[in-house]
Amino acid sequence: MEQNRESEHLIILVTKCVLALGSPQNCIKCGGRAVYTRTYSGERLCKDCFTSSIVEKTRRTISKYRMLRHGDKVALAVSGGKDSLSMLQILSEICGSHGSKLYAVTVDEGIKDYREEAVSMTESFASSLNVELKVLSFRDLYGYTLDEALEKRNGMKITSCSICGVWRRRAIDVGARLVGANVVATAHNLDDLLQTFLINQFNGDITRLKWIDPGWEGKSEFGLRRIKPFAETYEVEIAFYAFLKDLPFQSVACPHGEEGVRSEIRNFINSMETKHPGVKYSLLKTALDLARSIQVEEKNVQRCQLRLQNSQTHNQQGYQRINGSTFI
Ligand SMILES: [Zn+2]
Repeated sequence: MEQNRESEHLIILVTKCVLALGSPQNCIKCGGRAVYTRTYSGERLCKDCFTSSIVEKTRRTISKYRMLRHGDKVALAVSGGKDSLSMLQILSEICGSHGSKLYAVTVDEGIKDYREEAVSMTESFASSLNVELKVLSFRDLYGYTLDEALEKRNGMKITSCSICGVWRRRAIDVGARLVGANVVATAHNLDDLLQTFLINQFNGDITRLKWIDPGWEGKSEFGLRRIKPFAETYEVEIAFYAFLKDLPFQSVACPHGEEGVRSEIRNFINSMETKHPGVKYSLLKTALDLARSIQVEEKNVQRCQLRLQNSQTHNQQGYQRINGSTFI
């Protein structure tokens, strides 16, 4: 928990320092005062060109993976953190040009002294963007708040994140259906995807790899398509975007956070990126290649099973024809 909070605070501190220190060099796009240097590409950008580049990156990711189609109704899961509020602002600009309609869905898990602030921030921010917001609570949906559910574990070895993750996903799907959406967008960023990729490797679980592919066509149990428009955007750049745009995001981490392994992997990937700028994109390419090869393999297995079934049926019919003297 402490590691998670420290990481959040570190990102905010770094972004503030970058802005405060500035740069004696000029923006490569407009010649204004640069406030950010993108180490993996060498770009130096001013405030406006940097924030525009994040919007453009999101737009390109949506097009690259064909995430949005004309007439889509998109429900964005908004927690009130920097990632989801940044995405709410960006998607409110992008969705209109795609002929799509944007909604926001927020889940109140019932975490005392934590969630109330985020729900309130999200309500006022969504209202300022004219985005309809649906708020659902664990208590209304499941009869318990998360705090109450955790008290009822009675020593069972199940983590708060396991309960919350499953309940949240279902609650977001319910919210999406209530507003009439056919697509659920989440603000998972490049760092989130890479951490999940490595966690699955350490757990020996390759079946979940296909979920990492932002172009995967799988749907939820409610038949909703899932998209991740920040799939190719660095977490630190989203934090900087939120800071430059002065978004009212909640910076305090969840008090139930139990992400020890994820924090270690996050620190490891970030230290590699510092030494080898751009390594995150190389790792993403590896993750996508593996995810797609598994999808192809699954399709081949399904095709073989179908051929085998057809062959067995054909043999059976032939046998019946011979046995019944109907074979010509
Ligand atoms: Zn500029």
